[in-house]
Amino acid sequence: MGLICAALNAKSTAEARAAMLRARADGADLAELRLDLMEEFDLEALLRDRPLPVIVTFRRKDQGSGRIMEESKRLALLNRALALGAEHVDVELGSEGGIVRGGPGRVIVSEHNFAGMPADLEGLARRIESSGADVVKLAVTPREPLECLALYELLGKLGKPAIVIGMGEAGAATRLAALRFGAYLSYGALSVDERTAPGQLSVAEMVGTYRARSIGPQTRLFGVIGDPIAHSLSPAIHNAAYRAMGLDALYVSFRVPAGSDAAEFIRRHADSGFEGLSVTLPHKLAALGAADEVDPVARSIGAANTVTVRDGRLLADNTDADAAVGELARAFRGLDRTDRTDPTDPSDRLKGKTVLVLGAGGAARAVAWGLAARGRSRVVIANRSRERGEKLAAELRAEFRPLDALGDLAYDAVVNTTPQGMHPDVDATPLPAELIRPGSVVFDTIYNPLETRLLREAKERGARTVDGLGMFVAQGARQVELWTGRVAPREVMRRAALEKLSRK
Ligand code: NAP
Repeated sequence: MGLICAALNAKSTAEARAAMLRARADGADLAELRLDLMEEFDLEALLRDRPLPVIVTFRRKDQGSGRIMEESKRLALLNRALALGAEHVDVELGSEGGIVRGGPGRVIVSEHNFAGMPADLEGLARRIESSGADVVKLAVTPREPLECLALYELLGKLGKPAIVIGMGEAGAATRLAALRFGAYLSYGALSVDERTAPGQLSVAEMVGTYRARSIGPQTRLFGVIGDPIAHSLSPAIHNAAYRAMGLDALYVSFRVPAGSDAAEFIRRHADSGFEGLSVTLPHKLAALGAADEVDPVARSIGAANTVTVRDGRLLADNTDADAAVGELARAFRGLDRTDRTDPTDPSDRLKGKTVLVLGAGGAARAVAWGLAARGRSRVVIANRSRERGEKLAAELRAEFRPLDALGDLAYDAVVNTTPQGMHPDVDATPLPAELIRPGSVVFDTIYNPLETRLLREAKERGARTVDGLGMFVAQGARQVELWTGRVAPREVMRRAALEKLSRK
């Protein structure tokens, strides 16, 4: 099992001691003392009765130092730390010869590359390994997340304990996933504002959300790809689900840039041990291309949001469609969303119902296809741009209406799939209040805010309302079920999403 090391950004001895106590409380196993980032320090006082085991380092000038110190003094300082009982010192490749060995302290020999990936990653790692290092450390800067796979492969090849870090956004997943592939430790910051390297997560988030202290070779791997992805709620809901299910699993996010080969990313991660990937914009089409087998509704929608790896084969699904169908069906039944007792197919509730879908983009396609193919509803598409709306309607053999021609439409439900009303544009609404039919179901797929203007006005007019969080949770829950074969804890997932939303 890997360790979690709090990389401290303290400026003084007193601050560093306080930071070590905070790190311990947050669940860190050890603390890194970056002496070069401190304005003053008393090494003896720092190490006396320390709350956590430590890594002591003073970065060399060419390796990202916070301040410059004469090389002989710098090495003397690290040797003094070892003599005082520091559990580790971290010294850069090329400087390890100046370290006096003999005590129990371990020597981490490191190489940092802030500009990119070394041309010969394995050769560099082998040089560090044969330098006399107790622990090999490589911190590099991948340009895209696919490059991180080479870091994981390296961990399987080296004979010594090793730390690999992909710095920056493209390497963010390495901060957790490297532990699954056998990394000796991973670094976290005390808070995002106190990072000592780009891309660090907070220790509290690593230990809390991701259960990083229990990640090991047996941990099952899942993730989400998209661009942008930084504000995705998916890691929060999936990791909360696995925790509640008692499942040793890790779910990480990858910003796979628009325009890069997402199908290749998906296939290579499946080969590397990832058992399932959620797929969000703009890669839902690429997910279809990556798969060996595609669910017929996903094929009709023209987009997959889920890839499942089963017996080496990649299966693509679209769980948005079923999630939307399920949410609407429950609303028609007037059931509480936690009631899963009805054995009949929920889509029976939608058969023959007239559902007005506002929008014709990606979400609209999933919702409309789900309603038509699974729910056997009569779908009416209304969209700002006529061409796109008519195209979707034609595919579904459904009716198209311009947004200004809805007055006489007797719908049973309306689903908003446009971003109108989404944070920060909360005063916008896709449907004038006078067109909301009392007694109908009004479903807004937006979940930030939970109560949009559309839903507020729908309530005022006596309609039954459904917010977008249920659909979001349901599509994620269905993914958990596809990947694990077990019932997902939807209420836990909903609470995790609400908690994350409340902190945004
Ligand atoms: P998209 O592919 O970009 O489609 C956006 C749709 O909204 C298009 O039909 C577009 O019309 C229309 N639209 C955009 N701005 C508009 C405006 N100002 N006035 C009228 N129509 C406008 O986006 P998407 O992937 O479908 O996502 C749309 C929304 O769905 C998101 O904002 C999100 O809140 C929601 N969503 C929710 C979930 C969930 O799980 N709850 C999942 C996915 C999406 P044109 O064709 O005329 O451009």
